Amino acid sequence: MYTCIRGPWRVTLGAMAKSRRGAAAGNGGGSARGPSAASAAEARRAALAEVLAVYAELEKRPAERSCTLRTECCQFRLTGRTPMVTAGEAEVAARGVRASGRRSVEARPDGACPLLHPRTGRCMAYAARPFGCRTHFCEAAGGPRDRSSVLDLIRRLERADEMLDGCGPRPFPAALQEALEQA
Ligand code: SF4
Repeated sequence: MYTCIRGPWRVTLGAMAKSRRGAAAGNGGGSARGPSAASAAEARRAALAEVLAVYAELEKRPAERSCTLRTECCQFRLTGRTPMVTAGEAEVAARGVRASGRRSVEARPDGACPLLHPRTGRCMAYAARPFGCRTHFCEAAGGPRDRSSVLDLIRRLERADEMLDGCGPRPFPAALQEALEQA
């Protein structure tokens, strides 16, 4: 069975569906036939607005870092670290890609982020980059932000993910590809 990852825990999809059904019954959030298309669309808008609000809130908490655009953190295969993103983060990034005039992105043969431009070395959707790209800095730039300083924002992203019926944090390249295909 496919295993769904949510935060530091692993739960099965079946267990999650059961949990959600229980939550809906407890707070009146849906009928026996599930939420209407309109309410689902409204929940989607609210969730994506929350992701953007989290990014805006993070901007108000500047960290003393000196990024010199080495793009080391964008070289996933080299660093062995791939950003994990929620469904809302992937959707926001996909919208950023489309806003740049692209309909799709190519996987990089070198294992770098698909949004790292192969010639310019710049992020192709910087304003829409995921939370991890906004909080993880290489050691040369000062190192990652202290998780405790942004934990409340991580929790907000997790709640937005639940609103989107997401599956918790997933590797960015796959989540982005899926979000682009669903557009
Ligand atoms: S989304 Fe942009 S900033 Fe983040 S890893 Fe990819 S290229 Fe780098």
